[in-house]
Amino acid sequence: MPHLTSSGDEKPNWAIVIHGGAGSDPTKWNEDKTKIREAGLLRALTAGRDALANGRNALDTVELVIRILEDDAAFNAGRGAVLTKEGQVELDASIMDGKTRACGAVAGVTATRNPINLARLVMTETPHVLLAGKGANQFAEQQKVPLVAPDYFLSKARFPESEPHFGTVGCAVLDSDGNLAAGTSTGGTAKKLPGRVGDSPIVGAGTYAANDTCAVSGTGVGEEYIRNSIAYDVAARMRYANESIEDAVTIIMQQTLQAGVGGIIALSKDGKIVMQHNTPGMSCGAADSSGKFETHLALKDGGSPQRRVTTDARKPSKAETEITELLLQQVKDWNQGDIDAFMEPYWNSEQLTFSSGGKVTRGHAKTLLGYKERYPDAKTMGTLAFEGLEFQALGNDAMQVLGIWKLARDNQPMTGRFTLVLRQFPEGWRIIHDHTSKTPEKNSDDTVQQ
Ligand code: ASP
Repeated sequence: MPHLTSSGDEKPNWAIVIHGGAGSDPTKWNEDKTKIREAGLLRALTAGRDALANGRNALDTVELVIRILEDDAAFNAGRGAVLTKEGQVELDASIMDGKTRACGAVAGVTATRNPINLARLVMTETPHVLLAGKGANQFAEQQKVPLVAPDYFLSKARFPESEPHFGTVGCAVLDSDGNLAAGTSTGGTAKKLPGRVGDSPIVGAGTYAANDTCAVSGTGVGEEYIRNSIAYDVAARMRYANESIEDAVTIIMQQTLQAGVGGIIALSKDGKIVMQHNTPGMSCGAADSSGKFETHLALKDGGSPQRRVTTDARKPSKAETEITELLLQQVKDWNQGDIDAFMEPYWNSEQLTFSSGGKVTRGHAKTLLGYKERYPDAKTMGTLAFEGLEFQALGNDAMQVLGIWKLARDNQPMTGRFTLVLRQFPEGWRIIHDHTSKTPEKNSDDTVQQ
């Protein structure tokens, strides 16, 4: 049974999310396997929660939690690691500090009891990010980390070859100082070629943390996570496309990764926790300072929200929202017969350019006069509507807006396109250029009226 307690909605002081691998359907596991997995998740999550509640920092907590999972033979990391095609253990791990973006990783280590510990030493004791194979093993000896003999690794005895053993482990943490960190550790994929390196030790693929966005750890077919820079992509979507952490992970799970490939745990700088998988199961758990504490072997619908998130659903930028409001106000003013108010968003300058019906007018005063001549009263003004607005940012303080205008007057509907260029002034956005054409568009040469 999943262990579940509810939580409040307030922004937590600290938060932690862990995984113990994505893969097979836990309802098909025997009782023994189910019990040891649940116990392992509970033990690791409890230790992480207690550490954070006692003020432990994010990086230390990630290392502590992953060490516990590496020492637990129920998971495919450290002691329970799967074997290569040649029957050896080759361990991968990485850790990243969201505050400084310092990171460290090891790949293909064979005798280190806790690869996450060695990854952290690569981060703190070398100028490098990733050490692999022989060099990583030598580094482990130099650093005097606990080393173990090959028979320490229990995979062969515990997990028969007929039963695939999943259970990469990962952890993402937000501490009470607002710092994020993430780490991942694995034995890789079962029967991998000797020397094969997965995503877990690749920063940006299996692990990523940056204080401005989120901390992430992935589990699944590592090659897919490397190809798509999955962990970094969660942060990039939040950073560049303003997506929420839930939308970022959902889009990646639904659109980037093929079904059945794996799972992601992620934690935002605001303490929002996301756990999703597109495999039948993912061992995972989460806790935070508001009292949340839960572990799962699989999530309902793989943890994805009911609604399907599409990239089109991206939030409009602040500039787009402000300009839309400005144009809607213009429409209102027009429809109330108030041309002066309608003209307010136009740049009050002799340099305003206004082109309509093949005629170009320069300057605010002339444009207003032109409008008043063409539309002497509310009846001739009719009812205006704007549709299909498209925005193209021109640098930081200018925007091009394309759209369709519709005017109903005396039961004579007219329509056409407009292209506006707006600039941001201290008093707000102002239209500095307006080009309006009627449909069907006439091929007339614009004439300039000074
Ligand atoms: N991502 C890991 C790897 O490819 C395996 C896993 O998460 O199950 O090495």
